[in-house]
Amino acid sequence: MTADRSVEGAATLDTKLSGLLGGPTAKAMERAWGLVTVGDLLGHYPRRYQPRGELTALDRLPRDENVTIVAEVLEVRERTMRSRRGSILEAKISDGRGVLTLTFFNQAWRARELKPGVRGMFAGKVSDYRGALQLAHPDYELFEDETRTDTGPDAAALRWATAPIPIYPATATLSSWKLQRAVALVLDALGPVDDPLPESVRRARGLLAHREALELVHRPERDADWKAAQRTLRFTEAFVLQSVLLERRAAARAHEAVRRTPAPGGLLERFEASLPFELTDDQLEVGVQIHADLAEPVPMNRLVQGEVGSGKTVVALRAMLAVAESGGQAALLAPTEVLAAQHLRSIVDMLGPELAAEVMPTLITGQLPAADRRRAALRVAAGQARIVVGTHALLGDTTSFADLGLVVVDEQHRFGVEQREALRLKGRHPHVLVLTATPIPRTVAMTVFGDLDVSTIRQLPAGRAGITTHVVPLAERPHWRPRVWERLAEELEQGRQAFVVSPAIEPKVAEDGLEPADPEGDAAPAASVASVLAELRAHPRLAEVRIAPLHGRMSADEKDATMRAFAAGELDVLVATTVIEVGVDVPNASTMVVVDADRFGVSQLHQLRGRVGRGSVPGLCLLVTRVEAETVARERLDAVAGTLDGFELARVDLELRQEGDVLGAIQSGRRTSLKLLRVTRHGDVIADAREAAAEVLRDDPDLAAHPALAAAVRRRLDDDSSEYLSRG
Ligand code: ADP
Ligand code: MG
Repeated sequence: MTADRSVEGAATLDTKLSGLLGGPTAKAMERAWGLVTVGDLLGHYPRRYQPRGELTALDRLPRDENVTIVAEVLEVRERTMRSRRGSILEAKISDGRGVLTLTFFNQAWRARELKPGVRGMFAGKVSDYRGALQLAHPDYELFEDETRTDTGPDAAALRWATAPIPIYPATATLSSWKLQRAVALVLDALGPVDDPLPESVRRARGLLAHREALELVHRPERDADWKAAQRTLRFTEAFVLQSVLLERRAAARAHEAVRRTPAPGGLLERFEASLPFELTDDQLEVGVQIHADLAEPVPMNRLVQGEVGSGKTVVALRAMLAVAESGGQAALLAPTEVLAAQHLRSIVDMLGPELAAEVMPTLITGQLPAADRRRAALRVAAGQARIVVGTHALLGDTTSFADLGLVVVDEQHRFGVEQREALRLKGRHPHVLVLTATPIPRTVAMTVFGDLDVSTIRQLPAGRAGITTHVVPLAERPHWRPRVWERLAEELEQGRQAFVVSPAIEPKVAEDGLEPADPEGDAAPAASVASVLAELRAHPRLAEVRIAPLHGRMSADEKDATMRAFAAGELDVLVATTVIEVGVDVPNASTMVVVDADRFGVSQLHQLRGRVGRGSVPGLCLLVTRVEAETVARERLDAVAGTLDGFELARVDLELRQEGDVLGAIQSGRRTSLKLLRVTRHGDVIADAREAAAEVLRDDPDLAAHPALAAAVRRRLDDDSSEYLSRG
């Protein structure tokens, strides 16, 4: 059942914690972090290691947070309370930099252990009592062994004095050292552990045996111990993950798919003959890769990443036509109603009336009137509609396909894996093409999309006039605000169009999870569509200008009508939220003003900017901010202004971003369950692990000869699927 050899009575990684630690502790661990087995607890690695000799900065304690500190007891006194019966024991502790008071009610006996000069670790929630910091009823552990100096520096005492203290992610009830004690208990009970890494893989990299790595990551004697342990466990994590992804890839390829090979004189050829522009070299090359995939009897599983405006739609359309030609259907899933509607329009335009009549491009969105939607669903179910475009509504039970041969997911970062899966399951092993304008560094792609093949379009179609970007720093130059609108007016007077984007719809209504107002409440609220609209309408130079709002609270009809009017040149300015972020294509739009630009992410700003400069008109992008200079927020804006290279921006974004956000931001819906591995920093580990895993799987696809690895893969899959379920 398990790959770990069972020594008589000894625990394995699959042993339940409840049998070892006692019910309440095990329950608390399960509640806090979902730790159920010995392997789970041993995978709850210390967050950091604290040198025992070094004291924590007491002068920088965060209020109202659970802290763990190392300090020395200065003085202890007991006093009786005036207001009610009982006594308070107060102990002052210090780290040499600050002083903190510990308070205990009716626990005078603690004075026997909290003697002046004694050092230990203290944990609790920091509170502010009459201007002084205190911990009420802290949990603590004293370094008793330290007082044994008179016995001479024996080995145990030395070890105690120098060993780094592991600091675990803790909760109010499960303090760091409670975890430390539980881990020690479990490690003592643990029998031999088989290595998930094949011997040769481990040897070649000078990594520790798995059992030893677990021991040293939790009970290091010196810093070198936990460092070596982390290196081993990090590689192991990458190796197991890559094995999972490569197995998944192999499993997907084990199914039979319908070959889709275009014929001479067929739909695809006729389409290409009528295309008004030349495809770029990158578009052609990615096309070759896609069409080679489609000609195989195994399902394609390909990610196409390409800059905003690089022309991914036409690449996808060619694939859709190759499928339509053989009578199959292709479905394009778009993240928003606006985008789905635009895709449908541009697909109809590109196809021309004759081809459009043959493949019957059909829109399915949630906001279609019921009758239209029923009619559309019928055409899709009957197989007449060979190109289907839609939003999430495509995933619902009411949409079924006659012969779904290709699934295209546009702007993948807006969807989770399960949505891709839901659509895929509407066909019999259809080919899958995923499009993203979020450039993904190679190693991230390897981790997040490790089961996909990746193609890249770097080139933009010729004839683009380029975009100039400026940061407008209102903190230093408040008088530039009116000049932003002047500049906008100049552009409009040349017959061009513009977008003005703000983070909120109304002062208190955010679009898309952005903060509408400063949480502290001491800054002015974020600009909103409503406030910007009012400002523009009041501006003397914009009196004649046709301005309309566009945001997520409008009905699909209103949004679509507004987009159409803008695309047709009947509107000059759209004041919008990020609903226009992805894919909107209006070549005459020259100017993008982003108000309170610091509220947006780097890649979001890059996407927004990509809405202008798409035709022969040069683009202008103004990033307006009230944030002070020399802040991370400003650094991000400067980075966007500094380059048009999306790949470079993705790199900067990763650097400036909090580690944990990375995977989540790239693919919502798949939570990162990485522990020691960081896609930003450990690219080389990931690449190395992928190669090693590929080699092992090449010789042993079912891992029959690698039972410990197979078990680790299974554990990882269990984790993933429980996350999947718990997300609901
Ligand atoms: P994205 O990759 O951002 O989805 P689109 O597919 O929307 O980009 O294409 C952007 C614009 O470029 C569209 O108007 C499209 O018709 C046009 N386009 C695509 N490929 C070419 C090309 N090879 N030459 C000229 N224009 C192109
Ligand atoms: Mg697009």
